[in-house]
Amino acid sequence: MQYIANAKEAKKIDGISIEQIGIPSLVLMERAALAVAKRVEELAKKEDSVLIICGVGNNGADGVAAGRMLSEHGYRVTFLLLGNMQKASEEMRVQLAIVKNLALSVRTTDDFLKEELEQYTFVIDAIFGIGLSREITGKYAQWIQAVNAMQKPVVSVDVPSGIDATNGQVLGIAIRAKETITFGTLKSGLLFFPGAKYAGVVQLADIGFPKSALKEVCLQTISYDREDVKKLFPQRIPYSNKGSYGKVLVIAGSKNMGGAAYFAARAAYEMGCGLVKVITHQNNRDMLLEKLPEALLECYHEETKEEEISDMLTDVVQWADVIACGPGLGTSPTARSLFETVIKEENKPVVLDADAINLASTLSDNIFQKNKILTPHLKEMSRLIETPVATIQTDLMHYADMAKPATIVLKDARTVVVSDEKRYINRSGNHALAKGGSGDVLCGMIAGLLARKTEPFLAASLATYLHGLTAEEYVKNRSSSSMFASDILDMLSTILP
Ligand code: ADP
Ligand code: ADP
Ligand code: MG
Repeated sequence: MQYIANAKEAKKIDGISIEQIGIPSLVLMERAALAVAKRVEELAKKEDSVLIICGVGNNGADGVAAGRMLSEHGYRVTFLLLGNMQKASEEMRVQLAIVKNLALSVRTTDDFLKEELEQYTFVIDAIFGIGLSREITGKYAQWIQAVNAMQKPVVSVDVPSGIDATNGQVLGIAIRAKETITFGTLKSGLLFFPGAKYAGVVQLADIGFPKSALKEVCLQTISYDREDVKKLFPQRIPYSNKGSYGKVLVIAGSKNMGGAAYFAARAAYEMGCGLVKVITHQNNRDMLLEKLPEALLECYHEETKEEEISDMLTDVVQWADVIACGPGLGTSPTARSLFETVIKEENKPVVLDADAINLASTLSDNIFQKNKILTPHLKEMSRLIETPVATIQTDLMHYADMAKPATIVLKDARTVVVSDEKRYINRSGNHALAKGGSGDVLCGMIAGLLARKTEPFLAASLATYLHGLTAEEYVKNRSSSSMFASDILDMLSTILP
């Protein structure tokens, strides 16, 4: 498991380590610089001409120190200082004094022509780190543009200059790095797009922040690694029966959307729950009996009376440990009445996806209740909170926070999960999942885990992580274009412990 910091938390970790605990800033900096220099030595050739482009703050100072180490190891390095040296940080002054004493080449943008950039074959970007606080304009923007135009490998120090370390947005313009070496903890801005793309491969370097400093900042955002799956996935036990693993009710599939019911129901079974019952349109009956005979069925059609549906639903809701409602459900009057009954349930977990979320956005009541787990994609979220997709996209975590006290799985290329004070950023998966039906599978997976008594945050975050892993496994020997929702289902048995 990884802890993830936003810019504010990262600064606080710095502050506590240096001011309260007393580790000198230059000591941390030396370790940061060592990590950068070590990685650059692996990437650069000895004959490379390395340009280290530095701002005047501590990110720049890290760059100067790294360049000094590279020079000691025989690399040709040139420092290009960008910004007003009157405003240089104390550490920057120290680092500059050292490289001047070593008679290394330190240039400023006053006497460095952009045409000279062509002579350099490798770049270290140390212009801005977590301190970037506003749009990049003017001279900074021009130099960043010029560095990107060089099309040479760039290693960014901590964060690519121009990327907001919290939400991954480009503040005007940003460096396109081949790799980013980040210090102490991952930064959320390196995980969210477009930051993730600008950062390239992210390497995490331990530079000696004390654990107590990390703990005091109370990092609430996590991400999983493959090793976590074994520890977190609920075990099956020998002395058990289907009743031990919970019952899922799936309400899904309108007249022409039967596939959604199949995807969600089978996904719940794949996660190991004991029984799945599906409420769906009569049209989907034969298909479900054929493709998933393990599922119990209750069907309705246009003529089914409202009282009949209501009676049936009362019994089945009672029966279920978990309800998943919405995939392919449509917004017909019957769909609405199913939805409206289900959301009255307050005591068991209710997963709301797709059309259940669309129906919720037409209600005036607050759907963000404690027992609800919502799984909107950006468009569905946009309808629900009446905020444009483009706005939500700039700060997923902020908008996900709005769903408290419900649990939310806000789906995008990097999905976030928020529940109470816990936050999760998903790093697994890839564009193979960008195809109809993959969200329906995720909805069923979450319900399946909930049925196994996994608490909502863990069920939602672990299912999201596993969902992504299926795509990572799939593309190992097949084209990402050809992955179907059915393939996610087929892959699950190969990745679950
Ligand atoms: P569905 O329930 O089949 O997803 P919707 O009408 O709710 O249908 O939404 C589909 C539209 O939402 C499509 O135009 C799709 O491109 C858009 N959409 C889905 N996911 C995203 C996303 N992550 N970002 C922006 N738009 C999205
Ligand atoms: P549907 O309603 O068609 O089943 P959704 O839009 O609800 O699909 O869900 C799509 C799923 O695929 C989400 O879990 C989303 O995170 C995932 N996904 C889509 N595009 C990408 C991508 N480019 N990278 C990683 N995951 C993606
Ligand atoms: Mg969906």
